Amino acid sequence: MTKRISKKGAAKRSARGRGPESGLVRGAPLAGMAAGVCIVCSGKLRGHPIVDDYLIKAIRYIKRRLNIEQGNRLVVCEGCIVQHRKKRADFERGLLMYSALGLILAVLLLFFNFSLGSLATGMMILLMFIILAHVKYAPKVNV
Ligand SMILES: [Zn+2]
Repeated sequence: MTKRISKKGAAKRSARGRGPESGLVRGAPLAGMAAGVCIVCSGKLRGHPIVDDYLIKAIRYIKRRLNIEQGNRLVVCEGCIVQHRKKRADFERGLLMYSALGLILAVLLLFFNFSLGSLATGMMILLMFIILAHVKYAPKVNV
């Protein structure tokens, strides 16, 4: 296809090409990967470690209290990473949207009835919206 293969630019351009693999990071090393249990397919594999955020920490704490902690490192394996990234982006977008919506409602409430009760109700609405957004929760992944 490309006549002048010796040119670096041409090689790069064709490498970027079409095909489903083009979105993947080429030649990415296994650095940063850890052995653990994949949270998507539950397989014991090497994968990208999950970031311990507030929710994971809370779940770990509860499990430790109930003595059902298994001490598994949570990862997302290479086979599930694309699917998981989509889920995470979805969650982040949802969280942002719900928070904005809750905030608008809280401000509207204060606007129509400026009182401590309205402020409290507005805060409750905002909190409920944020909790609701967690239906789609997907943890952040270290890459
Ligand atoms: Zn997996």
